[in-house]
Amino acid sequence: MTAPALPDPDPHWLAGLDAEAGRAALRERVEAAYALCREVHPALPRPGVWLDLRGRSAGQAHFGRGGLRFNPVLFDENRHAFLVEVVPHEMAHWLVHHLEGGPQAKPHGHEWRTVMRRLFGLAPRTTHRFDTGRASPAPHRYRCGCREHAFTARRHDLARSGRAYRCRHCAETLVYMGLRDLDEPS
Ligand SMILES: [Zn+2]
Ligand SMILES: [Zn+2]
Repeated sequence: MTAPALPDPDPHWLAGLDAEAGRAALRERVEAAYALCREVHPALPRPGVWLDLRGRSAGQAHFGRGGLRFNPVLFDENRHAFLVEVVPHEMAHWLVHHLEGGPQAKPHGHEWRTVMRRLFGLAPRTTHRFDTGRASPAPHRYRCGCREHAFTARRHDLARSGRAYRCRHCAETLVYMGLRDLDEPS
């Protein structure tokens, strides 16, 4: 593993920025990540940037819209992690999609992992540990034998304190999935 290719932003400086300046810092980071990708793919189109993603996902590369979406609630609570990891994560999707054969590649497959490691110098993680309490009313993921269930913080507390929940469909006891996917492929 090489060192991260983009500089580590100062967390205290980031935390002190107001909402508008925070978003400007995010856009600057996207620009820096984009410049890095242009070194290996000079014809890569510049992605649009939107902060309009809701729910549990941190970001999303949206090829139909032609850019990257970010979750503004999770961003404001996790600015440093967004700049360090989420921006490169989504930009890596953007780059892979525009490489030959990219649209056919698996979202977090070999090509994407290679870009994360070799270009950005980062571990290719696909989950996040952000507290999604404010971004999603039912942020906790549980799984049974047949589907995924979303729990509110209150229900999650009850489950943690020993109450067993069963799926109405398959009757299996629900199991907590502690990690949320960082994004969902578009
Ligand atoms: Zn079930
Ligand atoms: Zn992803």
